[in-house]
Amino acid sequence: MIDFRVEPELQVKLDWMKTFVREECETMDLLFPYPGAPYDIKNKKSRRILKPLQDQVKAQGLWACHLGPDLGGPGHGQVTLALMNEIIGRSHWAPTVFGTAAPDTGNAEILAMFGTKEQKAKYLQPLMDGDIVSCFSMTEPQAGADPGEFKCRAYREGDEWVIDGHKWFSSNARLAAFLIVMVVTNPENPPASRMSMFIVPAETPGIKFIRHVQLMGDSLDQDDGVHAYIHYDKVRLPLDAMLGGPGEGFKVAQARLGGGRVHHAMRTVGQCQRALDMMLERAVSRRTKGKLLAEHQFVQGMIADSIVELEQFRLLVLKTAWIIDNEPHGAARPYIAMCKIQLAKIFHDITQRAIHLHGSLGCTPETPLASMWFGAPVLAMADGPTDVHRAQLAKTYLKKAKPAAGIFPSDHIPTRRAAAQARYAKELAS
Ligand SMILES: Cc1cc2nc3c(=O)[nH]c(=O)nc-3n(C[C@H](O)[C@H](O)[C@H](O)COP(=O)(O)OP(=O)(O)OC[C@H]3O[C@@H](n4cnc5c(N)ncnc54)[C@H](O)[C@@H]3O)c2cc1C
Repeated sequence: MIDFRVEPELQVKLDWMKTFVREECETMDLLFPYPGAPYDIKNKKSRRILKPLQDQVKAQGLWACHLGPDLGGPGHGQVTLALMNEIIGRSHWAPTVFGTAAPDTGNAEILAMFGTKEQKAKYLQPLMDGDIVSCFSMTEPQAGADPGEFKCRAYREGDEWVIDGHKWFSSNARLAAFLIVMVVTNPENPPASRMSMFIVPAETPGIKFIRHVQLMGDSLDQDDGVHAYIHYDKVRLPLDAMLGGPGEGFKVAQARLGGGRVHHAMRTVGQCQRALDMMLERAVSRRTKGKLLAEHQFVQGMIADSIVELEQFRLLVLKTAWIIDNEPHGAARPYIAMCKIQLAKIFHDITQRAIHLHGSLGCTPETPLASMWFGAPVLAMADGPTDVHRAQLAKTYLKKAKPAAGIFPSDHIPTRRAAAQARYAKELAS
C-alpha cells in the first residue's frame, strides 16, 4: 500500500517549522552569514540569540529529531525526518537551531555506540545539548577519502596510542571540543580493516593547524575558512581513546555516514524548493517585451523542468527513507547512493536556472542563489565524490546480473519469436 498523506498532527508541526525557519533561522542567516558561524560557540552575540530559539524548538518537541528515545530524541522514522529536513534545509543556521547539524549528529551516534561511560558523560550530553561542537577528521591531503592510501597512523607506546600524520579538510576543527580521527593502525590489513577510530580532546598537545581552508564562494573579507589542514604531531592518547576495536575504523565511519548522507539529500530538497520558489516569484514579478517572464515559453520550460526534477528527487529521497524505516539494515544502501549521486546535479541545475531568471541580480551575492550555486560542486564532493557512489551502485546491480544463455541477448526478438512460433506451431499451422 502506498499512502502519501501526512498525519494531521505532523502537519501542524511541519507548518510551525516552516514559519519558524523562515522568520527565525533565516534571520540568523542574515545576521551571521560567515562560514562556520553556526558552529562558533565563542561568539556571544550569536549564542545570545540562538539559545532562546533552541529553547522554542525543544518546547515543540523538535530538538535533535534524528535521535532515538535511548538518546533522548523523539525517535521519528526517516520518512518524518525527510519531511522535517526538507524545511530545515532551507536555512544555513536551521540545523544548529534544531540540533541536527553535521558532523555533530554523526559524531554523537559514534560516541553513543562506541564511547566509554566517561567519554559519553564528558562529550555526548553537551554535544546533544548544543553546548559544544565537534569535528570528524578522516580525509588526507594525498589520499582523499580512500583508506587504502591513508598514511596518518597510530602506534602503541606503553599505555598510550600515538597519532602521527596529516589530515585535510577537517571541518570546524578549530571550534571543536573534540575530534574523531580515523587513522591507520593495521597497515598490513586490506583497506576496510587498516583503520581505527579515536576520540581526541581538542586540548591534547600536538594538534597543529597548518591552515584553515576556505571554500569557493566564502566571503573574501574573512581571513580564513573552517576546514582545517592539521598535523597530528605525535598526539598521545590513553588506550580507551579508541572507538570500536582495532581495524574497525571503517565500520565505525560507515555507521555514521549512511544517515548523514540521506539527511543531506533531504536538506537539498529544501534548498532546491527555495530556489524554485524564487524562480516562481521572479517569473510573475518581472516584465520584458511587454509581458511577464512567466508568459515566455523558455521561462515556462525552465520552471517545468525544475518542478519535475525536484519532484522526482523528492520521491527518491522519500522512498529511501521508507526503505530505511521498513526494510532490513543495508537494504537502503543502493538508494542512499542514488540520492548522493543525484543531489548535486539537481541542485546545480535548479539553482543555475534560478540564477538565470534573476538576471544580473542572480549573479550577485544579493540573493541566496549565488552561494547555493557554489554549493553544488561541494555537495558532489563532501561525504565522498559522486563517482565512488556511481561505481558502487552499478556494481551492486551488476552483481545480480546474469550473462545471456546464447550469443544473442535474452531479449533478442528473432530468437524469442522463433521460440514463440515453435511453442504454438500447431495452432499457427492451420
Ligand atoms: C565542504 C566539505 C566539507 C568536508 N568536510 C570534511 C570533514 O569534516 N572531514 C573529513 O575528513 N573530510 C571532509 N571533507 C573531505 C571530503 O570527504 C573529500 O573532499 C572527499 O572524500 C574527496 O577527497 P578529495 O577532496 O581529496 O578528492 P579526490 O580524492 O582527489 O577526488 C577528486 C576526484 O577524483 C575522482 N575520484 C576520487 N576517488 C575516486 C574513486 N574511488 N572512484 C572514482 N573516482 C574517484 C573523482 O572524480 C573525484 O571527484 C569535506 C569536503 C568538503 C568539500
